This record gives sequence, C-alpha cells and structure tokens, in this order.
Amino acid sequence: MKIPRQADLACGNWGVIGPKAGKATFVEVCSEKGAALLDGAVKKGLLATEAANPKGLEIRAKVEGAMFKLADKWRKHDFEALGEGKDRLKYIMTETSRCIKCYQCIDQCPICYCVDCTTKNPAMVPPGELPVNFMFHLIRYAHIADSCVNCGQCEEVCPAEIPNALIMHSQQVELEKMFGHTPGVNMELPLMAYVEEKEERSRLNNTGSDMIYQNVFNPVKGH
Ligand code: SF4
Ligand code: SF4
Repeated sequence: MKIPRQADLACGNWGVIGPKAGKATFVEVCSEKGAALLDGAVKKGLLATEAANPKGLEIRAKVEGAMFKLADKWRKHDFEALGEGKDRLKYIMTETSRCIKCYQCIDQCPICYCVDCTTKNPAMVPPGELPVNFMFHLIRYAHIADSCVNCGQCEEVCPAEIPNALIMHSQQVELEKMFGHTPGVNMELPLMAYVEEKEERSRLNNTGSDMIYQNVFNPVKGH
C-alpha cells in the first residue's frame, strides 16, 4: 500500500512539481465523505485547491509504480531469508527465544483487540518463565495473522529486536492467498473477527474444545 486510496482522502507529495514543489500536496479524493471534508475546508478558507498538473499526475503514477517494484523486491528478499517449511519454523523459534514477554508488541498492535488476552492465561503460557514458552507467539500468530496490516509497530518497539512484523507478514500473505482477505484494504471483516470473544471464551472454558474454527468454517452447524 503506497497511496491509501481506501481512505477518504489520500495526501502526498509525489508528483508535486515546479514552483509548487515542497509547498503543496496532492489530495486524492476517494469518497463522498472525503469530498465533503475538502469542500468544507475550502469554503472556510482553510486551504486552496487547484486541478492537478497532468505532468505531475504522470510522475506520481511512475513513482508509485517504482515504489511497488522496490517493495516487492525487498519482500521477496526478506521472505527468502526466512527459509521455507521447517527451516522457517526453526528460524522463528530461534528469533522469538529472545523474547522477554514485555507485551510491547501486543500493546502497540492496532489489530489486537481482545479484552481478555489469551497470552496472559497461565494454562496457555506458563508465567514467570524465560525463555518464554513458544505458545506465547503461536497465540499471537493465530489471532493476528489474518488481519496484520504490516504496520511494523511490533518490530519497532521490540526490545529484543525480534523481526515480529516480518514474521507476521509472512504468515499474513499465506492466509491472504487462502481466504482472499487483504487486511486494511478489504472493508469486510477478516476471518477471526467473526468470533464473538466472550461467547467463544466461555465455550472454550466449558467444553475444553476450541470451537472458533468450527463456527467460522461452518457457521450454521457451529451455532
Ligand atoms: S515486544 Fe519483543 S520482547 Fe516484548 S513481548 Fe513482544 S516479542 Fe517479546
Ligand atoms: S505489523 Fe501486524 S502484528 Fe505487528 S503491530 Fe502491525 S498489525 Fe500488529
């Protein structure tokens, strides 16, 4: 995602050329809400607009294309470094073995939404242990990988310098291939968001059976 056109307005300076360079921004109006906001700001004299320079539009498209190519190249490079299959698992287990369970990756993630975090359940992750039980990371992968927007926060804040975002993103692209959901772009809910947290937790507590997947894949029978 280079220009967030799923938003109401997408701003940026790629393609701002000539005397306007450094003094103006492109504003791509992507929804009626965005148009109303921009019109309102213009009417109030808060900003001035003019039609985009056609040459600037062309340059903007070229820069965007070049950035996509660069990103694809680096993603391929970074994913290759993770290895495949068991090698990848070994890499992930080795990297995450440095974890000190500070919870920063969880606290900063825009996708983590559970009120009652499973990683804090002593039956799932034994407390007070270092290195941290790998289940801590498995829970996070299972809960977030379908909806990770690759914002990089979990990696940025990790004091153990674990490549959390890279690991999560590598799983997310596989789930995207399976379920066709592009997080942050598709406006329908990702797979795991169909789960009602309280209902599923009490079901898990009462039956010992994780019914979440049954409900998601077989909603009529599951309910
Ligand atoms: S931020 Fe890093 S060290 Fe802290 S819990 Fe997450 S992975 Fe572990
Ligand atoms: S990269 Fe993904 S898992 Fe990490 S903080 Fe961002 S959304 Fe959450």
